[in-house]
Amino acid sequence: MFESFWRANGEEATIVIPGWQTMSYFSDVSNLCWFLEPEFAKQIRRLHGLVGNAVVEDRHIVVGTGSTQLFQAALYALSPSDALQPIPVISAVPYYSSYPAVTDFLHSGLFRWAGDANAFQGENYIELVCSPNNPDGFMKQAVLKSDTGKTIHDLAYYWPQYTAISSPANHDIMLFTASKSTGHAGTRVGWALVKDQEIAKRMTKYIELNSLGVSKDSQLRAAKILKVISDGYEFPNSIDAKFFDFGRNHMRNRWERLREVVRETGIFSLPEFPSEDCSFTGDRTSSFPAFAWVKCEWENAQDCAAFLKSYNILTRSGKHFGAGLNYARVSMLDRDETFDVFIQRLYSIK
Ligand code: PMP
Repeated sequence: MFESFWRANGEEATIVIPGWQTMSYFSDVSNLCWFLEPEFAKQIRRLHGLVGNAVVEDRHIVVGTGSTQLFQAALYALSPSDALQPIPVISAVPYYSSYPAVTDFLHSGLFRWAGDANAFQGENYIELVCSPNNPDGFMKQAVLKSDTGKTIHDLAYYWPQYTAISSPANHDIMLFTASKSTGHAGTRVGWALVKDQEIAKRMTKYIELNSLGVSKDSQLRAAKILKVISDGYEFPNSIDAKFFDFGRNHMRNRWERLREVVRETGIFSLPEFPSEDCSFTGDRTSSFPAFAWVKCEWENAQDCAAFLKSYNILTRSGKHFGAGLNYARVSMLDRDETFDVFIQRLYSIK
């Protein structure tokens, strides 16, 4: 969806990397995260400062190959190395489908997927909190509280195009990604804001052993993209392009069209989101999540994903998110042409 913004304004974000540049493994040996490009760190802090969606003061930044790698680094960093049993990893249903898959992929002896946080009993755990949540779009808080429990906050969607920014998030480990903030999923760059120095060191160690750092080329590109977004707000005379305004207008329009067709067909229902004050825009706004969490209300269509597939609409079944077959998740971020076809196909169900 964001491609059309970058097609119109992308010249400003173009970078050229001569053959002799970015050759070393190292970016800044004086920094805890020694493979973090200083310019990328600067632009991350600047953008969070502008948007007001996360506390950056006194935080360590750890860069990763997408937040997918940082999620694994955080699991490693939070797992006790001397435990007899793997530490349970939990998240409230419906949870992002990659959490169980990634957690158990290598059958680690350090951590093990343990399902729904609401059904969990115990004192030692790692709880994953995704807010706004993939797949259902709601703002979430940790379900469990204990002195020994740990949390990882996945804030991939806590940006003004998707939801109201109510206050700067202030958690121990917060994960962000270029994929959802700017649309550059292919750049494969994410960042973690980490309170505790020892945890940040352990995350850095994981990435050192896993991939010996993170592409500098990608970090420089991501830095430029974040810079263009911030410049659009801070220096509107030099760059006449407001990325988050574009994103929110697009998302609002898509959600209105989706709600209209859902009303007309009468077969599905969608989550309803409260309106809240957004400190970034100064407006009162609803949420326009990156995914629509569709529920099939019709008794002849209890397998929602299969039902939609019979109309050539590809979704991900609710079963992957710890929910029922009557739910399916639909991406709201595809290109305009694809979204138009999606809406047309929904009308054809009527
Ligand atoms: N967290 C959430 C909640 C996501 O939805 C996604 C992408 N679908 C990711 C993390 C992965 O992001 P990245 O591309 O940075 O690995």
